[in-house]
Amino acid sequence: MAQYSNLEQALKYYFGYDNFRPGQRQIIEGALQNRDLLVVMPTGGGKSLCFQLPALLKKGISIVVSPLIALMQDQVEALRDNGIAATFLNSSLNPYQTRSREEAIVNGKVKLLYVAPERLLSDRFLPFLDLVHHQVGISAFAIDEAHCVSEWGHDFRPEYRQLKSLRKRYPDIPTLALTATATDRVRNDIIQQLALKQPTVHVASFNRPNLYYEVRPKTKSAYAELLEIIRENEGSGIIYCLTRKKVDEITLKLEHDKISALSYHAGLTDEERSKNQTRFIRDDVRIMVATIAFGMGINKPDVRFVIHYDISRNLESYYQESGRAGRDGEPSRCTLFFGYGDIKTIEFLINQRSDSQEQMIAKQQLRQMIDYAEGTDCRRTIQIGYFGERFPGSCGNCDNCRHPKPMQDWTIEAMKFLSCVARCKERFGMLHIIDVLRGAKNQKINQNEHHKLSTYGIGKDRSLDEWRMLGRSLLHQGLVEQTNDGYSVLRLNALSWEVMRRQRTVSIAVPVVQKITPEYGTEKAAEVEVLMQRLRSLRKQLADEQSVPPYVIFQDSTLKLMAQVQPQTKVEFSKLSGVGSHKLAQYGDKFLAEIRAYRTEQGLLTLEDYSTPFVNSPSETELYTLQLHQQGFNVQEIAQKRNIRPTTIIRHLSDLVEKNQPVDLNQLIPLERQQKIWQVLDTLGDISLNPIKEYLGESYSYDEIRLVRGKWRGQTRKK
Ligand code: ADP
Ligand code: ZN
Repeated sequence: MAQYSNLEQALKYYFGYDNFRPGQRQIIEGALQNRDLLVVMPTGGGKSLCFQLPALLKKGISIVVSPLIALMQDQVEALRDNGIAATFLNSSLNPYQTRSREEAIVNGKVKLLYVAPERLLSDRFLPFLDLVHHQVGISAFAIDEAHCVSEWGHDFRPEYRQLKSLRKRYPDIPTLALTATATDRVRNDIIQQLALKQPTVHVASFNRPNLYYEVRPKTKSAYAELLEIIRENEGSGIIYCLTRKKVDEITLKLEHDKISALSYHAGLTDEERSKNQTRFIRDDVRIMVATIAFGMGINKPDVRFVIHYDISRNLESYYQESGRAGRDGEPSRCTLFFGYGDIKTIEFLINQRSDSQEQMIAKQQLRQMIDYAEGTDCRRTIQIGYFGERFPGSCGNCDNCRHPKPMQDWTIEAMKFLSCVARCKERFGMLHIIDVLRGAKNQKINQNEHHKLSTYGIGKDRSLDEWRMLGRSLLHQGLVEQTNDGYSVLRLNALSWEVMRRQRTVSIAVPVVQKITPEYGTEKAAEVEVLMQRLRSLRKQLADEQSVPPYVIFQDSTLKLMAQVQPQTKVEFSKLSGVGSHKLAQYGDKFLAEIRAYRTEQGLLTLEDYSTPFVNSPSETELYTLQLHQQGFNVQEIAQKRNIRPTTIIRHLSDLVEKNQPVDLNQLIPLERQQKIWQVLDTLGDISLNPIKEYLGESYSYDEIRLVRGKWRGQTRKK
């Protein structure tokens, strides 16, 4: 059994992580007190750990209910690779395998058992469960993807409804329900349906700070841009399209452009689908082009980008789909290509529905999605706001925050446009209105004698695209309406008249062409990348030997740390986040050898010839703080985002400056104050903070001194 005196040590021992993610600790403490819990965390928040660690620390076995076989297998594989006794029972096993697993369970050899609800509740299984409870004790039921219990969720499964009977059968066994669902209605449903007893409800923030969100207009060059994103970003990516046809088309094009890609949609057989999925998860292929049929049940943590080549049907779907990027917390990109043609496709699909209430809701949701795509506010503010969570904006990690779109006053143009609608007697669609404005000559204009209107030709100074942009924006701002009888006739409303009477101004966001900015461009980064590549292929080789996905061996973040820190000894290696006791023993030597080989080839120092260890490399948590600092967040904000104390952030920052990392001190302390502290340090030397503060006087804070001392140390050491 492990040697640890607190939860952090247990975390490091079993999973190799140094810190809990926000919320995990409280949840785990609650679970250890045998409370019922409802855990709501976005994808990638780290839900699994919340029941896995307690399962290991408590007596007996925890039963994990999971809806999909693929999900179970993934989790069990990952656990086993950490040396944890986990297993699953499902229909993929033959009777012999099932028997031997059941035996191991009743003999108390298993800490976590994954099982599908229909099996769990079957007449054959329940007596077995009684036996298990009697022999080894059941420490908890963990219900994963708990939103499946609710008809209001996006993935209702009737079998989940029956889970309530567990509560009756085993009233004293605590239940943890976990979900990434966003709506209150579903959350309440979960509590009721599973009969949770005074559950502690943990709702983590839905903000995913490592995801970069952007929306691009779907122009003719969209495919070229897509290609550019794929080429400029490392690692795996998902491309979502609305239709199967589109999926196959893009896959073909990508293959033609020498990008390894596979399709995934409902038109493929189950076999093909699961084969493609496995190849994607195992990094045999880089890109998965898919309809939304692909996603649920994909646990791949190292998806580096999710591109929506077509728009999603609503903002919640978009959030969940794009959220499949970067579950491992590494910087990842979410791009939405937004074209007005897609809206028509979705509207068409919506109109197929028979229930008019449903239609109305679906249309409204689509409208919100469009607002997001056209929005000029922080994308995070819009997304998270949709889930009722407030976000202050200026996230620094979305297109709108990085390149704010200029708003332009188009009131005059709007007046021209709307009065043209009025002159045409509200009987025509947008294209005709624009033709009239631009003074076009065609049959429709002649027939209706629209060349005689006072608005004919008054808009020659703007292009067709510009008028269209205005027209759509007027629609989306509700300043004009459109019939939805299939003819899309423009109609005026009260707001239109306000505009025409100059009682209301009209601003629209004018898109600017953006260039993709690579995140890291320094030389050091390039070096790290080279080593990363080598470590990646070693990882892939080891993974293939064991037929597991590469991330099961080590996650990207751990590989990156290896490449940055370049540990030389097992002790150093074991300190990397993501290296637990089991992985150290299993893979440590192999990765150390690879790093050594690289360093020798590069003529870098190896263990034999260097005396000071790599004190200068920042830790993972420090790097994360640095990243946020570089995005312009202040200490308070970083502390809040990371859910750690401001003093810790200050310590990170001062250690970072000491390690000569690019911390901008001027952002934190006025220059003259820095200089004053610097002088004192030069005079007094490197001593503890107290005497320095005494010397400087009350108006200087420990934080300031600590930060400047970091820089001072870094500089003095360099000399
Ligand atoms: P969710 O189920 O909430 O989507 P997971 O449980 O799959 O998230 O966790 C997402 C990723 O984060 C996994 O790769 C997991 O190993 C990793 N992870 C979880 N907890 C931590 C932690 N405390 N520190 C570092 N990584 C973590
Ligand atoms: Zn933003």
